[in-house]
Amino acid sequence: MTISADEIVMNSEFDIINRYFLRSAHNASLGIGDDAALISCQPDTDLAISVDTLVASHHFFPDVEPRSLGHKVLAVNLSDMAAMGATPRWVTLSLTLPKIIAHDNAWLAAFSSGFFALADQHQVELVGGDTTQGPLSISVQIMGEVEREKALRRSGAKLGDDIWVSGFVGEAALALRYLQQKTMLTAEAAASCLPALHTPIPRVSLGRALINVAHSAIDVSDGLVADLEHILQGSQVAATIELDHIPCSSRLKDKLSEGGADYQLAIDCLLAGGDDYELCFTVPENKRIVVTQLAQQVGVRLSRIGKIVPGEGLTVLNNNRDPLIFNKKGYDHFLD
Ligand code: ADP
Ligand code: MG
Repeated sequence: MTISADEIVMNSEFDIINRYFLRSAHNASLGIGDDAALISCQPDTDLAISVDTLVASHHFFPDVEPRSLGHKVLAVNLSDMAAMGATPRWVTLSLTLPKIIAHDNAWLAAFSSGFFALADQHQVELVGGDTTQGPLSISVQIMGEVEREKALRRSGAKLGDDIWVSGFVGEAALALRYLQQKTMLTAEAAASCLPALHTPIPRVSLGRALINVAHSAIDVSDGLVADLEHILQGSQVAATIELDHIPCSSRLKDKLSEGGADYQLAIDCLLAGGDDYELCFTVPENKRIVVTQLAQQVGVRLSRIGKIVPGEGLTVLNNNRDPLIFNKKGYDHFLD
């Protein structure tokens, strides 16, 4: 990271909190400043709670734009709320900062502005956190509300359900492989896919709209195959999906049809790439029209990629409708 001398100051822990993170919280009974925040939930709601940690060099490049990082740490948590059909309401932020960043006001200002821009968009309040020194690592805990017993779960898929996915899959993985110089892209293609990696858009409105429509849902964070398999295991069913029904950009389609060196890379991006933060969900076949209407209502492309069937496991059919053999199933922190 490049830091100019005039941006270096000596910030204390409390300077950082007060300057960059202290905001009045209107939806909380008590926000930042005491030993704990206080929140009151609406009656007849369940509180949905989730936490995600992003570690420098592991989940993001240490020199990533701090504004995008502020966006992404919140986006990945909002995506978990979306997958449950919950309305995100409150977050806490645990920051572990190396000294060089703790004293870099430009970095802190950019990070917090990216974080709050997305928080404001979703009317989510930062109600507390922790600030400490160490290798750069950021944890966000999110809390949301969902009508009692209505949350979307991984365990509700039923035989005969259609399997749907939002947006495009594989874009963030393609952008990552481009940054790692594992594949070539034109400048224009790179500019089109990099936002999927750096500033993903959590599908919060879609998740909420899927309540009473979808039988099950998950957000695609580890890769389509790995995450769909969580639904299959949770619901004790099997599935068949078709490769050419999986929605992807023309950039990825080009690589898939080339049949050359990048074919396997494109398959990996599509099936096991991860970092998509799209929703994968199952809906009974007789609600296809409802899903189509809902796509228009929330302004998100929705694609039907396969079906829930009896048995065990996931079959991916290639363009000739033969089962595709692939090794890498998704991202795993302890295996990759
Ligand atoms: P304690 O010593 O009781 O853990 P701290 O001194 O860590 O309290 O934090 C003081 C207040 O600032 C608390 O209300 C805490 O929630 C809040 N806080 C600390 N770090 C952050 C942060 N990164 N973002 C938001 N709030 C924070
Ligand atoms: Mg503390």
